[in-house]
Amino acid sequence: MNRKPRVALIGGGLGGLTAALAFSRVGIEAHVFEQASELREIGAGIGVSANAVKVLRALGVEKALRERGFESEASVGRDLTSGRSLFQVPLNDASGPRFGAPHVNIHRADLLDVLAQALPGPQIHLDSRCVVVSSCDHGAAATFSNGRQEEADLVVGCDGIRSFIRTTLHGPDAPRFTGNMCWRAMIPVERLPPGHVAPHVTVWTGLGGHVVTYYVRDGRLINVVAVQETSDWVEESWTIAGSREDLLAAYVDMHRDLRTLLDQVEHCFKWGLFDRDPLRTWSAQRVTLLGDAAHPMLPTLGQGAAMAIEDAYVLARALSCSPEDITAALRAYEAARVPRTTQVQLASRRQAKIFHQNSRGSTDLNADWIYEFDPTREPIALRPVSENPGIRMMH
Ligand SMILES: Cc1cc2nc3c(=O)[nH]c(=O)nc-3n(C[C@H](O)[C@H](O)[C@H](O)COP(=O)(O)OP(=O)(O)OC[C@H]3O[C@@H](n4cnc5c(N)ncnc54)[C@H](O)[C@@H]3O)c2cc1C
Repeated sequence: MNRKPRVALIGGGLGGLTAALAFSRVGIEAHVFEQASELREIGAGIGVSANAVKVLRALGVEKALRERGFESEASVGRDLTSGRSLFQVPLNDASGPRFGAPHVNIHRADLLDVLAQALPGPQIHLDSRCVVVSSCDHGAAATFSNGRQEEADLVVGCDGIRSFIRTTLHGPDAPRFTGNMCWRAMIPVERLPPGHVAPHVTVWTGLGGHVVTYYVRDGRLINVVAVQETSDWVEESWTIAGSREDLLAAYVDMHRDLRTLLDQVEHCFKWGLFDRDPLRTWSAQRVTLLGDAAHPMLPTLGQGAAMAIEDAYVLARALSCSPEDITAALRAYEAARVPRTTQVQLASRRQAKIFHQNSRGSTDLNADWIYEFDPTREPIALRPVSENPGIRMMH
């Protein structure tokens, strides 16, 4: 191939948009195909930890991210009942961000907007649900529900936990219900006594559940994620409305500081938490996966989107290092990403158990190894294809 490769990204979530930006920064043409009629994210917050901020810095959007978000000073664990302090992980110290970049909490819609605004051209195609994907050794093609067909040198499934591309590559396997559900809510800060919520990511840990709170929108809103173990959940959907009464009833013995906060919840949604077992390989011929499509995980370490952002950067770099040999680029991408995302997926499961044991054992957050990592410095290890034959697509 004597020209730059062309990439089709299926899915316009945080992973797909970061990938579009990363490809544009290395001069590779990438188009995003999103099934929805507008780019949208659920009305909730997201923590962008230092490892992911390092990528957004390299992509030139750190300033916009920090202007729209809120920089939390520390991650602080508190006992849900007594309020006792359990752990404190400083995210900044006197010399600046402790992990080489700040931890930024932001409204998801704001992050999506930051990424979309940074794209250089009209690369996003809405109302484009991918219904067929095919591949051979020299190229790939995607067909959309609107009849459009696209040929590309590489198709990337960035289509989330219920990924159609993943099913095409690896066959059907349902996401696994993790035995946890959560409520999510946003509370305007003026509803609370001044200074009631510390400028931290606070993790209230109790028996069988935990509640995470942090500021977004430059400190004007407080985001609440309340996780509870449960055996009876069937749906994974954002559309199920929850009630404040249900939420308060789930944490009857909560500390008064947390109750004062949760008393102010007006609207909340219920959400089942699903993940999947790690895959050993993601790609087949000219099709690969990225983000939740490749490695959906529990949100206990706040790393799902961070891993998608890391994937996006590494994939774009791998392809820019090996534009003539896309198979070698995909091998390098997987070699860099599968071990790390597998570790984080499994650590996220363990962290749920640690948070929910509360007084039965020590409750701690060990995430330094995740935050310290700098994906922009990862070596891209290109190897001849003959050393590592890939799997072929299922049809
Ligand atoms: C309660 C909770 C809290 C969380 N907190 C954090 C946090 O603090 N920090 C963090 O890093 N992560 C967090 N996460 C995880 C994070 O939300 C996800 O990992 C991240 O959104 C995944 O991004 P994605 O782009 O891979 O997938 P998605 O955001 O699911 O995007 C997939 C996109 O693909 C589109 N699509 C699907 N199928 C098709 C198709 N066939 N054709 C075209 N388009 C299609 C969808 O419409 C969607 O826009 C949390 C998750 C939960 C549930």
